[in-house]
Amino acid sequence: MTLPDLPDEILLEIKQRCGDDDYRFLTPFVVAGKRSNRLVYSSEILRTCNLTALCVEPLDFIPGMRRLRGRPFFERCLREGNIQAAYFEALRLIIHCGDFEGGLNLMEPNIPDDGKSTLASALFYCLLGDTDEAGYLFQCFDAKHDHLVSDKARRIGQEIVREVGSFYPPFGGYFSYSFLFPPALMPECAYDHDPGHDPVCHTCYIYWVAHRVCAQL
Ligand SMILES: [Zn+2]
Repeated sequence: MTLPDLPDEILLEIKQRCGDDDYRFLTPFVVAGKRSNRLVYSSEILRTCNLTALCVEPLDFIPGMRRLRGRPFFERCLREGNIQAAYFEALRLIIHCGDFEGGLNLMEPNIPDDGKSTLASALFYCLLGDTDEAGYLFQCFDAKHDHLVSDKARRIGQEIVREVGSFYPPFGGYFSYSFLFPPALMPECAYDHDPGHDPVCHTCYIYWVAHRVCAQL
């Protein structure tokens, strides 16, 4: 049996596994013929394929930047509800267009299943001073993923700061006047540390992540 003889569902399964590992592994299937190409662009593949390699370099999928190498494929994934595409497009809308409503709406279907979208949305609501919504989302993260005081929260918080930074934000601190952290979740030790000698502790890490994202914008 040659590859073209395999039934669609088997080929789809193979491609889905490749795409879920890294979307770049789909490239040979795109050029392998019409049938293969059609399957790569199917909803099942686009919805779950791993876009990490594309999104570590946002300039490749931001409209108006460079040659837009990855934007057409990125948009196809976005239309199919790919979680990563929604998260990164939300960052673009918020950072480059100031469109918080659009960005937060885009991430909403990812909540609470995607921890990063949940935590990022909570942080952006802090910037807007909406402590009710931020508090609710922090609790969603806590209930579905891990405590705010956990290695997982710390790792995701670090990733959000890095990924916001990868969009070349203005670093204007424009939301420092509206910034509010949910009072019920305010860590007692937040101002007890000497930042010069004491790297932010676990307990108040997410609080300071929120401040760092605020400073980035
Ligand atoms: Zn602390």
